Amino acid sequence: MPAIILDGNKIAAEIRAEAAAAVKAMSAAGIRPGLAVVLVGNNPASEIYVRGKVKSCEEVGIYSEQRTPPANVTTEELLELVADLNRRDEIDGILVQLPLPAQVDSKKVLLAVDPAKDVDGFHPMNVGFLSTQRPGLVPCTPAGIMEMLERSRIKIAGQEAVVVGRSDIVGKPMAMLLLNANATVTVCHSKTRDLPAVCRRADILVAAIGRAGMITRDFVRPGATVIDVGMNQVTDPAEFATLFAGNAKREETFRAKGATLVGDVHPEVAEVAGAITPVPGGVGPLTIAMLMSNTVKAAKMRRGSRVAELSRV
Ligand code: NAP
Repeated sequence: MPAIILDGNKIAAEIRAEAAAAVKAMSAAGIRPGLAVVLVGNNPASEIYVRGKVKSCEEVGIYSEQRTPPANVTTEELLELVADLNRRDEIDGILVQLPLPAQVDSKKVLLAVDPAKDVDGFHPMNVGFLSTQRPGLVPCTPAGIMEMLERSRIKIAGQEAVVVGRSDIVGKPMAMLLLNANATVTVCHSKTRDLPAVCRRADILVAAIGRAGMITRDFVRPGATVIDVGMNQVTDPAEFATLFAGNAKREETFRAKGATLVGDVHPEVAEVAGAITPVPGGVGPLTIAMLMSNTVKAAKMRRGSRVAELSRV
């Protein structure tokens, strides 16, 4: 039986609608949540991501502003910019779009963001809150995956969860969230022995690797839920053929654009998994929706009692 497709667009729309309702309720108390996005230089991929984030803010009713220092910005200049955003009361969330140019000390800049405004959840204080199960801001991609699992009524407690990838942005916080939700969690990486065998233990398998189609059918226990975080551009026709040969729609896109977006999970996995996220249209849309949700949450946490009574997000 083919896998159930977990529709990220649909769940993201629900989350955005909830954030919009919360923003509306907060406006009754005279509060408008605000997000500042810092975009350094002219990285085309970053520009696309930031455009999506700003557009989403407009839809939800969040105030947003973009700060765009040049590519030759120094660490000190960025620290000053972050300090200014930290001071401003109308800014609830600060997002520094990564990657930063090589001359900038990225860790120092991320550490300078006020943890109460750290809507990416990357500050060590928020990492600590997550690992000790205290309220805080959680990285958007793994938080979105938890929303997807919960809203799709996929059982987590007591299940075997395997996370492939241990980045600070996805793999580690994902593992922590699944552990906090009472899954039995294994985290894998490039040094893991017999990765397919470890992955086959999973009731829930999360792939956050950055390698197109690496998770093939032999990694997946029949009926498992497979979450594909990967976003890889495939441009090589031979590689494309190993992934999508015979898929007329993809072949047409590939011919037209010379590239296609592929996850870390091979399309053949849909034949064995119980449920699976597509790429595109799976985890990607949830990431931006959770940024909206995190900005509302930051506004409520920062502004405390003035908004405590208002809605759930
Ligand atoms: P990352 O920082 O490069 O981490 C990749 C992880 O995969 C590392 O832990 C690495 O292990 C592991 N890995 C690499 N090759 C492996 C192999 N052959 N076997 C086992 N493990 C292997 O990447 P990331 O930032 O977590 O992102 C992962 C993917 O998710 C990328 O495709 C990225 O574009 C995508 N992404 C998507 C979203 C979204 O919104 N959909 C958000 C963020 C990221 P080591 O630690 O041993 O090197």
